[in-house]
Amino acid sequence: GCRMKAVVIATGDELVRGVHTDTNSGLIARRLATLSIECERFVVLGDDEEALSAELLRCVQLGRLAIVSGGLGPTLDDVTRAAFARACAVPLERHAECEARLRVLLEARGREYTASNARQADVPRGARVLPNERGTADGFAMQLGAALLVALPGPPRELQPILDEQVLPLAREHLQARGIAVPVVCDAVFRLSGLPEARFADLCGDWMERGRNPLVGVTASMGVLTATLRARGADEAEAQRLLAAHVTAFVER
Ligand code: ATP
Ligand code: MG
Repeated sequence: GCRMKAVVIATGDELVRGVHTDTNSGLIARRLATLSIECERFVVLGDDEEALSAELLRCVQLGRLAIVSGGLGPTLDDVTRAAFARACAVPLERHAECEARLRVLLEARGREYTASNARQADVPRGARVLPNERGTADGFAMQLGAALLVALPGPPRELQPILDEQVLPLAREHLQARGIAVPVVCDAVFRLSGLPEARFADLCGDWMERGRNPLVGVTASMGVLTATLRARGADEAEAQRLLAAHVTAFVER
């Protein structure tokens, strides 16, 4: 069947300067895996509007799910809004609900609402706002044909609840609307010591080819191989059945 692929984009000059390390993308990829959405690639960019909009445009053309983190702050180096507007060929518009929420939040923190703050209430025309309960920058999502583009704030403690509570349900709806089934994934994990990785590849390489179900993945650490047998089914029962039917054959190899 048809699957949706994702591109996860982390933005921020500190990331490409090596001052901060991108942990958001890994979190996003792990969450997307629960919907069987595979990450095609991670992209890490500086605060570069042109580079980000080019990346987003590519995602529109390929019908990808793109999730961007960072660059939603009130300063001029926060370019995510402008990059989205450019890639989607729509203007930025002040969003009344965003602005109202922002005013209340800043007031509660004893801060003044300025023109710079107001920038954070600008979203691309047609975007759906993803309210941020832990910070000033709301996220937003744009649907363009098969593509779904999402912008999330950079701080992990703000990003994570929006991802879990808003983005995953939205992605699931998007898949359903496009007739893409969301399979259930079941894993069986094996730890094998004393078996070199190359020998494992000789024994089980055919189970590791893309598209296999169940699919075998392997990682090596300090002489121990961790092999994961991952089955996908229309429901839990089917995935478990598939897994059970292959575990014995796998162990016997
Ligand atoms: P803010 O309104 O807080 O400025 P923002 O959306 O503009 O939000 P950034 O300014 O890009 O986000 O990042 C804010 C902070 O969030 C960074 O200083 C960093 O601590 C953290 N952060 C940003 N991106 C990442 C990332 N990819 N992985 C981990 N932490 C990140
Ligand atoms: Mg910022």
